Amino acid sequence: RVAVSLRDVSKQYTGGTWALQGVNMTVREGEFISLLGPSGCGKSTVLRTVAGLQTATAGSVEILGSSVNAIKERPGEIAFVFQEPTLMPWRSVLANVGLPLELMGVPRVERRERSLQMLEMVGLQSVANKLPRQLSGGMKMRVSIARALVSKPKLLMLDEPFAALDEITRQRLHEELLKLWERFGMTVLFVTHNVFEAVYLSSRVIVMQSNPGRIRTELKVSAAYPR
Ligand code: ADP
Ligand code: ADP
Repeated sequence: RVAVSLRDVSKQYTGGTWALQGVNMTVREGEFISLLGPSGCGKSTVLRTVAGLQTATAGSVEILGSSVNAIKERPGEIAFVFQEPTLMPWRSVLANVGLPLELMGVPRVERRERSLQMLEMVGLQSVANKLPRQLSGGMKMRVSIARALVSKPKLLMLDEPFAALDEITRQRLHEELLKLWERFGMTVLFVTHNVFEAVYLSSRVIVMQSNPGRIRTELKVSAAYPR
């Protein structure tokens, strides 16, 4: 089944830049896709368009069998992780993780239980009651990933999530992300300009180029990780 489909998608920003021109992309359920390319080639634009955070100038975008607009009415099905973890500073780690469930109207006790479970999966149950500023960059990223997955989304999108982290932390998070992907079976769209990261993590790499932003080629990857 198809998770994400882009047909002839173009995007022109106010100011005139054609960030995307004629992008076609089909992602099947359960795939781990990396969008790879130099800065400015439109990777983030693809992700934001799929997430419904902005609209395409032309073309059609379908997610999980619905239009982008329809998916907005189904909270919890798609999740987004940004490079800078956007945690609420005055809320505990636990409350940050539970936020998507709160928006979905999940009762408090269940919220707490599921958030704790998710924190355990990323090895952070011991800091559940701390505030975000008390955590390292890698821990904050783990909290962001836990928050993204707490609603068991079908589609997870990450925009250069590990770019700001040191090499060791990044490698650990690669392994954790792969384990979570196996465990949850969700579709992943991962944006990076790091070739190693793209090839190591994904089952398929979509390579983009700029001016205008478009797809240059695709690579099937036989990855080291069993899948
Ligand atoms: P990336 O980290 O993917 O390279 P950018 O640094 O290009 O992202 O963009 C960071 C933010 O700035 C994004 O929210 C993007 O929408 C915005 N942005 C990027 N380029 C421009 C621009 N030329 N005019 C206005 N906003 C921009
Ligand atoms: P990437 O993620 O590959 O770095 P982006 O999707 O952020 O690329 O940007 C693609 C192009 O669109 C770039 O030329 C960038 O400057 C431009 N751009 C991105 N966001 C905006 C924005 N909000 N307003 C104007 N131009 C933008």
